[in-house]
Amino acid sequence: MAELIPIPLPVLLKRAFLEYRREAKLFDLPAARIFRGIEGIDFAVESNGHRAATPLGPAAGPHTQLAQNIALSWLAGARIIELKTVQVLDELKISRPCIDVTGVGYNVEWSQELRLEQSAREYATAAMLIAILQHSGLLGAPLPEPAIFDMSVGYNLEGLRSPRVRQWIAAMKDASAIVDELRGGLGGEFRRFRDLPFPARLSDTVTLSTFHGCPAGEIEGIVTYLLEEMGLHVCVKMNPTLLGQAEVEHLLHDVLGYREIQLSPPAFANDLQFDEALHLIPLLDRKARACGRQLSVKFSNTLVVRNHRSFFSDELMYMSGAPLHVLTLNLLGKFRARLGHPVPVSFSAGLDANNVASVVAMNLVPVTTCTDLLRPGGYARLPRYLERLAGRMRDLGLARIPDYVLRAKGNAGAAIEQVFAGLGEPVPASLREWAAQPPQPLDRVCAALPVPGLEQKLVDAAGLLNTPLVVAEATAHPRYTYERNQAVPRKIGSKLWLYDCIACDKCVPVCPNDANFVYETTQAGDVAYDNVELTPAGAGRIPGGVIPARKAHQFANYADACNECGHCDNFCPEDGGPYLEKPRFFGSLESWRRDARGNGFYMEFEGGRRTIRGAFGGGSYVLTLDGGRARFSDGAVEVEIETATGAVLDWTPREAARTVDLRPYVELKLLLEAAGGAGRVHYANVTGFEEATVDG
Ligand code: SF4
Ligand code: SF4
Repeated sequence: MAELIPIPLPVLLKRAFLEYRREAKLFDLPAARIFRGIEGIDFAVESNGHRAATPLGPAAGPHTQLAQNIALSWLAGARIIELKTVQVLDELKISRPCIDVTGVGYNVEWSQELRLEQSAREYATAAMLIAILQHSGLLGAPLPEPAIFDMSVGYNLEGLRSPRVRQWIAAMKDASAIVDELRGGLGGEFRRFRDLPFPARLSDTVTLSTFHGCPAGEIEGIVTYLLEEMGLHVCVKMNPTLLGQAEVEHLLHDVLGYREIQLSPPAFANDLQFDEALHLIPLLDRKARACGRQLSVKFSNTLVVRNHRSFFSDELMYMSGAPLHVLTLNLLGKFRARLGHPVPVSFSAGLDANNVASVVAMNLVPVTTCTDLLRPGGYARLPRYLERLAGRMRDLGLARIPDYVLRAKGNAGAAIEQVFAGLGEPVPASLREWAAQPPQPLDRVCAALPVPGLEQKLVDAAGLLNTPLVVAEATAHPRYTYERNQAVPRKIGSKLWLYDCIACDKCVPVCPNDANFVYETTQAGDVAYDNVELTPAGAGRIPGGVIPARKAHQFANYADACNECGHCDNFCPEDGGPYLEKPRFFGSLESWRRDARGNGFYMEFEGGRRTIRGAFGGGSYVLTLDGGRARFSDGAVEVEIETATGAVLDWTPREAARTVDLRPYVELKLLLEAAGGAGRVHYANVTGFEEATVDG
């Protein structure tokens, strides 16, 4: 299984600074898609006592595992980051491929792939990377506002109580030791960032993911432990099975038309039942309040279904995307109607730019997304969510989220009446006026009234009133139906290989890890070469062949950041999978040796000398370019070549006569000069740049 190798902070920084300055992008996100706020709109919300500049975030999943993913989410507008779920079993073999987001979204990828200790370090790296990007002056003004990290843990009490998970949580609450070590690693031109006030407390909130079959008593035990012993705010992620098999089947098959999706009855039988949840959540809420923490609920996890497709080998898979949006909204509607006890709710299920305004109108914080970010454009899709939400707010003449929740569905008056009826007091004239036509922001009107927490009470009431309206709209909307979600990316019947493709660029942004990259060649065309015949008397040329590498715009994969999830293959119009067929570059000799598997390259840079090692075409080769000379080894013979003429100058051993196939030499040279050149910056070549990256 492909192993993710976290990229060291100095390497991430060097790439970020070079790429932004030279190419106006950051980890392949165009500078124009960096979210810096929208004039006249305040998206701020409160989340577990923290102010978040937007309610938007990536859901725990492929977008929140590696530091560059987290930074990308933040750059694109996410301000509450639900980190990828960790658990005590941190050496699981996740089957590959594991992500299939063509029409509906499916995955079999449900747990962090890094070790626990690596995860804590990676999250600290992400926090420091964000802090440096913010404070370095690189991004200019206005700066993206900071992000809140929300831990995500699973899946049972025994695992969560284990010393390793306890240590992990403790490290997330106080990461000073990790931060100090990473700080010490900031050398050279990045040394100047050592004194930045990096956050030592990475997170004080946790979302609990209970896997299918987790009984109510176990959930209660876990939440109590997280609240009372670990001192965290806790969010309980609900499974869509809570809606009951009959209701899910009705919605999925009869209402939405996804008749080919088959449910897994044991999941419904063994999971938390709806009535149990109605009892459990108020109980846990009381426990949270008693220890000064907050309890919230998240709707929802993915839905376990039977695997009816051929992409995964597992028997079950987890459904997301459009149908989950409708199922989850119906579950939320039912839950809110029956609970009679307001608890904060966060959301994740088929969120996209088209429905984010409706979801925010239900007073859900944060609203998180995953499946949609796996579609073409990737992280660059996020700013559109906020642009659409701002558009809706502007249409209503509103500038703040609380005001928007009250007025989004015309329920401001009803919410005000309801809150004051509950207080046993008449509705103040100022609020009546505001409901008719808001002359000023709601918080100012509320501040002038002697009711503690009034604005939040009004927002809570309006969110509840808006919920059935949003649920009904979405359930009836054709965009969530089977017919509207059958289009899959087209394949054109050609096969990928090391060079050239139709260069559609899709595989770069769809990768959640930003593992695919572009490099440019300067000598695109058919590259003709001769082979050599070596005898003790001398070297002679014999006919070789032609390597067609005709495109200037070429693609490669950075294997250290690729977990072979298979996702880019789905969106590539050609066959074979970019992550398997394009040159796979590694970040260290060690990872190259471990995992090259017949398609692996590693480049090293020492002053003007550049070396590439390549395992491909059935052999393993090394090429060093130094001045006008090349040293090429195929494992049996090492040849010195004058690069301008191709003349063989020397070779060892000299004893036996032999023919040397120079095709691997030409291919390595092409890769080293193009991917290892300064045309584009990426992880495989970043250490080769000698120019200063930090001003001053
Ligand atoms: S390069 Fe492709 S297979 Fe690898 S992590 Fe990215 S999307 Fe998945
Ligand atoms: S490898 Fe596939 S997805 Fe990537 S640019 Fe080439 S054709 Fe497009």
